[in-house]
Amino acid sequence: MGCTASGVADALRAVAGVVAEHRAELIELDRAIGDGDHGENLNRGFTQVVTALDAGVPETPGAVLKLAATTLISKVGGAAGPLYGTAFLRAATSLGDKSEVDVPAAVAALRAAVEGVQARGKAVAGDKTMVDAMLPAAAAAEQAAGAEGVDLAGVLAAASDAAAAGAESTVDLVARKGRASYLGERSKGHLDPGAKSTSLLLAALAKAAR
Ligand code: ADP
Ligand code: MG
Repeated sequence: MGCTASGVADALRAVAGVVAEHRAELIELDRAIGDGDHGENLNRGFTQVVTALDAGVPETPGAVLKLAATTLISKVGGAAGPLYGTAFLRAATSLGDKSEVDVPAAVAALRAAVEGVQARGKAVAGDKTMVDAMLPAAAAAEQAAGAEGVDLAGVLAAASDAAAAGAESTVDLVARKGRASYLGERSKGHLDPGAKSTSLLLAALAKAAR
């Protein structure tokens, strides 16, 4: 059994709730090594995603993600809006017009999302960005999907755990992309806000899938 369009819409509502809950924390993280707008940017974006879903949930999971993508791209400023927008858009394209998201589709969508972010932002592993949470998440999802009898909740739980560890790993890194890279060595010792938001997002998706 996979996840339908309404299931994906509910998961995005859950993401919006978690982003709202952690708005201040994301602002603080971004204040330390950026300009302090990350929590506000994302909260505004996901609030608009919920508004768009309230107006009508599209028919397929891919169309739901595409609606989220276009909303994030148009409503979220800064680096993160277009990057998360690209992630959702690539995931949407990867799902195509499937009526349900099953394990293989979810794993492929996650991988497509990371590839999109990397194509757009040119960040690689170790640059202290959201990519440092996304890459391990996609790899963990792929690995989890190989186990017998694993379901969507299991795959997303593995991705979420790996994203959390990946986000923590950014503390010791020197930023090489984005605003934090202007600080050079002084960016060390701080958690990357985008890596943190990625881990929150995947945690919300994993919880929604349970
Ligand atoms: P801005 O830096 O424009 O203020 P945000 O504060 O919303 O945008 O987002 C900052 C986050 O965006 C960073 O913490 C980092 O994770 C992510 N980021 C910035 N540049 C890149 C990039 N080139 N590739 C991937 N992620 C990036
Ligand atoms: Mg910022």
